[in-house]
Amino acid sequence: MLNWMKKQPAQDESLVSITHNLAKLYRTKLFPLEEYSRFQEFHSPLLDDAHFLSRPMVLLIGQYSTGKTTFLRYLVERDFPGMRIGPEPTTDGFMVLEHNEIDALIPGNALVVDPSKPYGGLSKFGVNFLNRFQGAGLDSEVLKHVTLVDTPGILSGAKQMARGYDFIGVLEWFAERVDRIIILFDAHKLDISDELRMSIQALKGNEEKIRIVLNKADQVNTQQLMRVYGALLWSLAKVFDTPEVVRVYTGSFWSNSLKNEENRNLFELEKADLFRDLQSLPKTYAVRLLNDLIKRAKLAQVHAYILQAVRSETGMFTGASAKKKIVDRLAEIYNQIHKQHNISLGDFPELEYMKQALASQDIGKLPKFKKDLVDTVQFLLTRDIPPLMQRINQEELKNNSKQIEGGIFAVQETSPFDEDFGEGANKGKGEAGWVVDEEKEKWTKEFEELLPNENGKLEGRKVKPHFVRTKLPNSTLAKIWQMSDIDKDGCLDYEEFALMMHLIHNVALEEKALPTQLPEHLVPPSKRKPKLQKNEENGDMHPSLN
Ligand code: MG
Ligand code: CA
Repeated sequence: MLNWMKKQPAQDESLVSITHNLAKLYRTKLFPLEEYSRFQEFHSPLLDDAHFLSRPMVLLIGQYSTGKTTFLRYLVERDFPGMRIGPEPTTDGFMVLEHNEIDALIPGNALVVDPSKPYGGLSKFGVNFLNRFQGAGLDSEVLKHVTLVDTPGILSGAKQMARGYDFIGVLEWFAERVDRIIILFDAHKLDISDELRMSIQALKGNEEKIRIVLNKADQVNTQQLMRVYGALLWSLAKVFDTPEVVRVYTGSFWSNSLKNEENRNLFELEKADLFRDLQSLPKTYAVRLLNDLIKRAKLAQVHAYILQAVRSETGMFTGASAKKKIVDRLAEIYNQIHKQHNISLGDFPELEYMKQALASQDIGKLPKFKKDLVDTVQFLLTRDIPPLMQRINQEELKNNSKQIEGGIFAVQETSPFDEDFGEGANKGKGEAGWVVDEEKEKWTKEFEELLPNENGKLEGRKVKPHFVRTKLPNSTLAKIWQMSDIDKDGCLDYEEFALMMHLIHNVALEEKALPTQLPEHLVPPSKRKPKLQKNEENGDMHPSLN
């Protein structure tokens, strides 16, 4: 376990200790009941440490040529081993993109036997699957925070590929474990094929993880896009079979130029929203693990009570008729347990599902009830988890800046494409110099004529009439003054005066909107705060010298 911690330098240490705690609690308090009551035969596979100790994962799903692999390359901003992109189904297997010191292609066999990785459970899908499962290890900052999973392109139309392994089963396996599922659609050839419909159905129970990306939206015009968007929502509502429709992000998720520029602004906003959503994953990861643990613990208890009731109802009779009697009475049994143990019916497994599961079991061989195991889980729920929950909340507050870094998520230096301050105030944005210097001659002359005091400053009271002559309303002048008197001493030095004149002539008198705050690029060079930069070696923040 120590080895593992060394391998993950970017992960926040307090979060690491929380996830270690969760792994230990599961192993010592819940696992024994699950194992004894054969939880995995009824509900879901037993978990290993790696389940708790790996990074948050994002799964990409979509018909072929919707841009899945391209989207991943866009996120990490580089090519990766084994990457193949093309119009035909090019990704013919599952590929996990994970952080590694050196670029490497890791075969599926090696991934599933590595105890530090969470893929052990995939070995049950057999050799055919493992031959179609690969890991691309690459030294990418993004992957220090999140693991990305590429999937084979799903076929369009009614065609279905003979894949030689349980494709839907593998999807289900991943869907249960990942933190986000992104389903990509192609705006200029939207269709939901049979295989895609089956794939989406395999995601059932994980709806809250799903985000939809309507990709390549620049390939169509606005009118077509609106039609496609409507059609997509309509189809999704049918497939998901839930009233609340999942969030759809519309845009062009690669770095090439837009074919159709009409919706540039919309695409930028949508992209920002999607990235914000992904950025939150490292923070919500621990919360998700904890919630899953609580869900499992409650289900394991209910499961133990159900088996207990089934055993006591059948007694010595364990043949087919006894089994039928149990299955018929299961709803009643649920109710009894609900009343006796005060467990919400929402924590019970689906009735029909449980009937089927029991029908396939030899009832006489179900494990006997062991009270101490159930009590241990009760302690886990009532004594161990609440303080941990509190700690996670505290860590979350402390780490509110914790996000995915690197690749497309890297913080950009100020550029002319950032925040829009309005036409007039944008002038000079992203440029190295101070745009006001271009008007230096004019303002120096005016400044000198106004007779600055011995400190080289114009006092507000004296200089006021000069500005009032612009005929701008006082409220506007006051706003401009607020932004221009940067050191708030009630006086304007030459730079502040030039800035005030710049804002008056380039923005206010041009009837352009004033920014609410002075944009960084308009701050006079001598008054700019030194930029904080991350020290590469020790991670400390220190002011850079340039
Ligand atoms: Mg692909
Ligand atoms: Ca001043």
